[in-house]
Amino acid sequence: MVQRDCDVIVIGAGAAGLRAAGELVGAGRRVTLLEARDRVGGRIWTRREPGVAVPIELGAEFIHGHAPVTVNLLERAGSAVIEAADSHYGLEEGQLQHRDDFFAPIRAAMAASDALERADLSLDTFLDQHLAAVLSPEQRQYARMMAEGFDAADTSRASARSIVEEWTGDTLGGGPQSRPREGYESLLEALMAGLTGEGLRLRLQSPVQRVRWSRGSVEVAGEFCGAPFALHAPRAIVALPLGVLQQLAGAHGAVQFMPALAAKRTALAGLASGPVIKLQLLFARAFWETLEQGRYHDAGFFHVPEAEFPTFWTPAPASAPLLVAWAGGPRAKRLAAGAAPADLVCTALESLEHLFGTDVDLESELRAFYYHDWQQDPLSCGAYSYVTVGAQSARTALARPLEDTLFFAGEATDEEEGGTVAGALLSGERAARELLAADGG
Ligand SMILES: Cc1cc2nc3c(=O)[nH]c(=O)nc-3n(C[C@H](O)[C@H](O)[C@H](O)COP(=O)(O)OP(=O)(O)OC[C@H]3O[C@@H](n4cnc5c(N)ncnc54)[C@H](O)[C@@H]3O)c2cc1C
Repeated sequence: MVQRDCDVIVIGAGAAGLRAAGELVGAGRRVTLLEARDRVGGRIWTRREPGVAVPIELGAEFIHGHAPVTVNLLERAGSAVIEAADSHYGLEEGQLQHRDDFFAPIRAAMAASDALERADLSLDTFLDQHLAAVLSPEQRQYARMMAEGFDAADTSRASARSIVEEWTGDTLGGGPQSRPREGYESLLEALMAGLTGEGLRLRLQSPVQRVRWSRGSVEVAGEFCGAPFALHAPRAIVALPLGVLQQLAGAHGAVQFMPALAAKRTALAGLASGPVIKLQLLFARAFWETLEQGRYHDAGFFHVPEAEFPTFWTPAPASAPLLVAWAGGPRAKRLAAGAAPADLVCTALESLEHLFGTDVDLESELRAFYYHDWQQDPLSCGAYSYVTVGAQSARTALARPLEDTLFFAGEATDEEEGGTVAGALLSGERAARELLAADGG
């Protein structure tokens, strides 16, 4: 019999893996948590810059909807949540107009349609063939922009059922949009606080390369400091990003499962890892707050669908000279193709000029920019997941344990809040629960 190194190996120390490890350690299990990066958090990555009043979030920033799993953890750690400013401005015939009521009629038209009862459709088909009579071309364009921006989705592939469910539910349908006051790193602090003691062995800079498994036995092999390691346990939780699981064996960063995860093939094909460009622009001053007699002082979001970067947001209600330039979906993929970060900054400034005109000398106001390419990063292979047409059961199928031995967590496996930090946390809790049940409670 192979000697066991611990009770459970958890692969990936993002929100999902950390949460799963916390639950298992709390239940008295000895856990080894393996992470390839030199930090925990994965797609949560907060930077602090002296003199900048707000955290700089290279990855997740908002808490979408009420998300009690996230809010409770933050509260337990003594950290607060701040509701984001919800005032939206959009460019109409060259003028920035207040547009807070734009999304509601789109949601209402989607909810009222029965076209999706018979079969799932792509969002494009749903909008153009079933909602053209009730939504203007401009409203349909806005809906596409939302799906690309919020869901990082290609609207010709995205499941309309899944998007309608999300947009009319708590995540986006009416729940608040907020931020952790001290940034998402405070959530990581809260997760790590539950992981002290003998039960956990956290190994950073330890990329996993191979998982050999059979019922009741898992051998995980990887590398630390250039030297190979192998660990054994009766069970493992795989908390890797969707994009990493979708990599073909042999690709850079791919994890090889032996035997291969044949039972997951359909689920993996039904989900997509969407691309996003999130570029933080730090200026000498929050120039938009003083434009047009302070009209945009409290602005949360600026939308300019025809520009390369169609969305910008401010840190409001906090005041800081930081604007986020955001593009998602195919547009993000096209923008990023072959572009150096400095090229993206130039494109973002052009989009900003489109928005605010030429009165502000943006180039001389710019102090710094912050960017991480999540698409090219082999440890994420994309920003976050969305469901493609007809694949509504894919998240549940991806989550299903194999042989009471391999368990699956990660935002892509969460049916309710896929794509988000809350989804990742819930998936970690679920996977830990499933494992404990298989292990006799
Ligand atoms: C730019 C951007 C903005 C976002 N904005 C928001 C937002 O505002 N609100 C929101 O709720 N969500 C947002 N998200 C999504 C959110 O960040 C993710 O859904 C969530 O953090 C995913 O957590 P996870 O644990 O599932 O995956 P991850 O955080 O990716 O964790 C997986 C871990 O596995 C590790 N790993 C990968 N390969 C290996 C290997 N071979 N061996 C060992 N370890 C490995 C990775 O390094 C990583 O740490 C955003 C994401 C991005 C990229």
